Amino acid sequence: MTEDCNACGRDTPHKVALKLLTESDKPENAKFSREPYRVSTCMNCGHETTLRMNNA
Ligand SMILES: [Zn+2]
Repeated sequence: MTEDCNACGRDTPHKVALKLLTESDKPENAKFSREPYRVSTCMNCGHETTLRMNNA
């Protein structure tokens, strides 16, 4: 899929993946604070854009 890349400054092909990232720096809370993120990687320059999914 094609998205705008901040690094390239234009629309480029991107590879999109979903990741669960731990936001808490407290190990005892880590398993309760994993949040889904959408990570798109520019196939032209390799720049990664990470968007939090549940930011409503
Ligand atoms: Zn790029």
